[in-house]
Amino acid sequence: LKKDVEINRQHLEAVQGVGSKKNDVEIKGAFKQFGANIVLNGIDLEVKQGELLTLLGPSGCGKSTTLNLIAGFLDPDRGEVHIKGNNVTKVPPYKRDLGMVFQTYSLFPHMTVYENLSFGLKLRKVGKAEQKKKISKALELVKMSGLENRYPRELSGGQRQRVAISRALVVEPELLLLDEPLSNLDAKLRYELRAEIKRLQKEIGVTTIFVTHDQEEALSMSDRVVVMNAGKIEQISTPTEIYNHPKTEFVFQFIGKSN
Ligand code: ADP
Ligand code: MG
Repeated sequence: LKKDVEINRQHLEAVQGVGSKKNDVEIKGAFKQFGANIVLNGIDLEVKQGELLTLLGPSGCGKSTTLNLIAGFLDPDRGEVHIKGNNVTKVPPYKRDLGMVFQTYSLFPHMTVYENLSFGLKLRKVGKAEQKKKISKALELVKMSGLENRYPRELSGGQRQRVAISRALVVEPELLLLDEPLSNLDAKLRYELRAEIKRLQKEIGVTTIFVTHDQEEALSMSDRVVVMNAGKIEQISTPTEIYNHPKTEFVFQFIGKSN
């Protein structure tokens, strides 16, 4: 883990210089309430171009809600979401240029792998020949070449998530949003895919927001980690910093659980 944390730090410096990159996403003063339940209690967040940023926190702390604000599936009650410098708070999801992968049910079950990937390309009016090229490249990225004609039910859990990631990437989105994509997989696969996602993210340099409740996953994969608790951000920092210098008692306790 320590080694991973160090590699992440070096990468962060390499991709970002020191704070020189623009922000791809900004959340400003976001509040969200469901009935009497205050789910986001003033979230401020900046995601830098090309980084892998992880939202980490216990179940129910507001990670998915935050991601859904960025995706546009939810509107904040108060506050704003900016993508690439544009205020997109009222912009519907399909007009935001992003790819998303969920814990489960990410693929269309009645479509083959190929059809799953071509879906978004068709919507974007990409021609047949170009589709084929892009799909073949996207499947190669996740080591799924040759499985174009399979249906999701004919794939293992790990393969499904690979295809889901590939489908999110095939349209070359500006942002990749991953909501606990590894949580349903067994430990060995989880390790394997962790490394895969990290490699792939660096390779294509897509700005990525990753959600997990797993401390080790967050610390080993991310350029920066956002620790959340009960609708608030406790600390935003590099894995090294969070590991060595937890800012609050909550972060100390929560990160401590992974050791
Ligand atoms: P996390 O992803 O960190 O586990 P969520 O963002 O999914 O947490 O949920 C935060 C809180 O908001 C939880 O208490 C959850 O029950 C509640 N919540 C999430 N979505 C809804 C919804 N659509 N309606 C009502 N409550 C919701
Ligand atoms: Mg969630």
